[in-house]
Amino acid sequence: MCELKHIDLKNWAVPNLIVCAVICSSPSQASQLNATHVKKAAAPLSSQQAASAVAELRHRNLALPLASFDIERAKDSYSELRNGQSHEALDMLAPRNTPVLAVEDGDIAKLFESKLGGATIYQYDPTHRYVYYYAHLEKYADNLKDGQKVKRGEVLGYVGTSGNAPKNTPHLHFSISLVDADKRWWQTAPINPYLVFKKY
Ligand SMILES: [Zn+2]
Repeated sequence: MCELKHIDLKNWAVPNLIVCAVICSSPSQASQLNATHVKKAAAPLSSQQAASAVAELRHRNLALPLASFDIERAKDSYSELRNGQSHEALDMLAPRNTPVLAVEDGDIAKLFESKLGGATIYQYDPTHRYVYYYAHLEKYADNLKDGQKVKRGEVLGYVGTSGNAPKNTPHLHFSISLVDADKRWWQTAPINPYLVFKKY
């Protein structure tokens, strides 16, 4: 199982989340990646909780973050190991600079540059119970900023290879997480986006 990790610095922690591997740090103190106090993120969901979350999100009919992406031909890589960690995301191949769209109304929790994810976006859903994560972006949409309200289908950024994405394989790394009880966007339990988007 993957363990999302964050580094607790004086009881204040913000992760340098994910992407094809998992690592966390404080964005303002990234140099302290080797700090000693490493804790687990939110506990993984039970299979029943995960199924319930998937059902709830399927009911919302989320937009695909890439308009022309064919989910039926996509590979479910959620459980694959990447660098020894569970992937817990969906990789969506697309040409560089393909627009990346908000999957639902909500607001921007954080624009975050990380070593692995590159240019990333954390977006809350309207209830602030879920976080949508978009990574490896080439760039953000103009004027996008933390706290900004966004609409389903709105362009948030563009597909790229920032972070640890192979430079010849532009793709969007997209994940969905259930936020912990304190609604902290960095303390989340993953949900398989492939199951949310897949048609049955
Ligand atoms: Zn990925």
